[in-house]
Order: sequence, then C-alpha cells, then structure tokens
Amino acid sequence: MAVKSYNSGDNTQLSPHFNVQEFKCKCGKEHEILIADELIEKLEKLYDALNCSKIIVTSGYRCPVHDKAVGGTSSGQHTKGNAADIVCYGQDGQPVSSKLVCCKAQDIGFGGIANITESYTSTHVDVRTGYRWLGNEVVNYHTVTDDFYKYYGISADSFADENKEGDIMNAIFGIDVSKHNGTIDWNKVKAAGVKFAILRAGYGRDISQKDVKFEEYYRGAKAVGIPVGAYWYSYASDPEDAKREAAACIEAIKGKQFEYPIYFDLEEKSQFNQGKSACTAMVKNFCNALEAAGYWAGLYMSRSPFTSYIDESIRTRYALWLAEYNSKLNYSGSYGMWQNGSGGTVDGISGHVDTDYCYIDYPAHIKSAGLNGYTKAISAPVETPIPAESTTENKSAAAVIQIGDDIYKGTLTKA
Ligand SMILES: [Zn+2]
Ligand SMILES: [Zn+2]
Repeated sequence: MAVKSYNSGDNTQLSPHFNVQEFKCKCGKEHEILIADELIEKLEKLYDALNCSKIIVTSGYRCPVHDKAVGGTSSGQHTKGNAADIVCYGQDGQPVSSKLVCCKAQDIGFGGIANITESYTSTHVDVRTGYRWLGNEVVNYHTVTDDFYKYYGISADSFADENKEGDIMNAIFGIDVSKHNGTIDWNKVKAAGVKFAILRAGYGRDISQKDVKFEEYYRGAKAVGIPVGAYWYSYASDPEDAKREAAACIEAIKGKQFEYPIYFDLEEKSQFNQGKSACTAMVKNFCNALEAAGYWAGLYMSRSPFTSYIDESIRTRYALWLAEYNSKLNYSGSYGMWQNGSGGTVDGISGHVDTDYCYIDYPAHIKSAGLNGYTKAISAPVETPIPAESTTENKSAAAVIQIGDDIYKGTLTKA
C-alpha cells in the first residue's frame, strides 16, 4: 500500500471529495503531509455508501510531535498517514450518526474504526493492516467489538431496504403532499427518514386556489429542518393560461425559501389532447415565468405522457420529476427525481402518501445559485460546529491495555 508524501503547501485534489490540504498536520509547523492512497479510496467509498453531502476531516496526518501533544504515543496511525478523524454530513446537512458511519466503514474494510465523540458525530477511520480495531472511545478506549452492527443494534436491513433497487441506490428519499394528506406530524416524518418534501402550493389560475394546507405544511417541515420544494397543479387551457397559473403560483410561494425546485404539474387529459406543441408551450411559459421570478423551475409528469407530449428540446431544460409507479423508472434520459408510488406509508402521516427519490443535490445548487428565496452566499457557509481534534482517542495505549489483551500486544497503536 502506497503512502505518499506531499509538501505542506500542496493542494492536489486527491479524489472527487478530498484535497491534500484537508490532511495537513495541525501542529502549526510547515512540514510534509503523509497520506495513504488506500485511505482516500476508502473515504470515497464511505462518501458514496452514506450518500454524504460532505465529509470534513478534523484530523488527518499528525507529525510525531503533534501526535504526542494531543495525547498519543507519537507513533499512532495518524503519524503513518493511515488515519483520518471525520464528520460525515448527510443530504440534509446534518452530521450522520457515528454509529452508522462505523457500520459502513466496517463494510468497506477500514482496519481501525472508532466513534470518538460523545455526540456520536465524529469517527476515526484508518487503513492499518495486520489486525482490526473496532472501538467506541466514549465508553473506553479499549471497548472493542468484532461487529458494529451487533454492538450498536443496527440492522443491516436498514441500509438494504433503501438499496433494494438499483435505481434507489444513493437516492434521497422524500414525499410530496397536498391537503389530502391531512394533519401531518412533521417530527415523526423526520424521524422516519424523510429527507425532503414537495408541497402542493395550489392549482389553476387563481391565487384563491392555493392549497389550504400549504402554509401549515411549509411551517411544519421547516420547523423540523426538512427541506421543501413546491408544485402547482395545472389546469391551463392553453399556453397563455399557463402564464396566469405561473403568476398565481409565484404569489402563493412569495417570501418563502425552497431548497427544492418549484414544479409545474401537468397531467390533465384535456391538456394532452391539445398535442405536443401546446403542452411544450405550457411548460415553457410556466417555467420561464418562474425562472424570471428567481426560482429553480421544474416539470412534474408521468413518464409515458412526458415522452409523448413534451418536445425533446426542453426535456432537460428544467428540473425533471417523473412519475412511474413501478419497481424502476423506465426512462433512459436524465432526470432529477422519481415519484415511485402513491401508496407509501410514513410515520406521522395517516393514510397513504406519495413517495419520491431524488438524485440531485438541489439544496446545494439552489442555495449557491441564490434562488428560491435564498441569497447568494459571498462567504463560506456556516458549518455545524466541528469538534477539535480528539484527545481521548490518543490516550496512552499502555494505560488501557489490560490482562487478556495479548492479542493487541505490540500492535496496539493509537487510533
Ligand atoms: Zn506537525
Ligand atoms: Zn483518529
């Protein structure tokens, strides 16, 4: 396994999500940075497996002096370029539980893995060889398990469920709701794993047809930190009418912030009967008006009419949300979201709910573009506080080696 040495100022991008500088020693001196290739490879796998929005490296390479300064032996995995302490963030921008990170890191085959903070947000991973070390330093440095799933009581199925279809792999799970969904307990919805909600804002050409639950759902989802988008159900009788619908929609959503697009919902048979060019013009008129008002516009349609009534020239022009109630979406073009069914059950919602999978990080794109009520950021976004370099993980090994620990003798190095 190759461990490479980089100059302190080197800012080589090692992989899609990791740069040399992220692994720089925090002792304050300018010196080489050691990084194992395998560490980066496995961190990328972890990034994908957890569907991260980002991974922050809080401690990467440590020179022996610094390792000692933070309580280590001066020869631990960090000093070999084998280790990283990380905080993984999900698509909702929140840290992923270290318990889940430990499980996935175990699957990926990291040699050393440990939860290192009481808040279960920070995880040590390394690519040591020769033996495996799976720990929970909050309980005790030497709390070692052979299986994090068992140790944390996490079912492998909790991951497998999401991955049962190839199309669902790495997708973000969400729902779309309208007044028909009644009273919603958004805390429960969040706890159920819903990562976004697309809210019906209303329908037709008149603002009086705003969905009566729209304001309530918007407040409820926002209160628990579920990102939202919106859709406007169209009854447009012709392309000009779609402009009036856009005006009503803009009136209904003004003053709010949406992390997901605002969709034109086209599904009435009377509209399809007008043919491809009329349907295409309706979509353009609505979406262009939304864009002119500063929104990320999109189109919602069922897959089959979409391929019949929407011109090829605009199929990838706006955000695309396709419906097909099937085990997979039979569409080979690109799209951002798939509504896979209307019979879902989610804790916090009585009856059935529409379920969706999203494949694009709309919140990141929309916020950085300064759309949907967001202002373009001029400075770095505020991050969730990141723990300082762990010191607990660097407690002297000698202090915790106990009788019966022979298996680790001579190889027990600091995490
Ligand atoms: Zn150093
Ligand atoms: Zn560490």
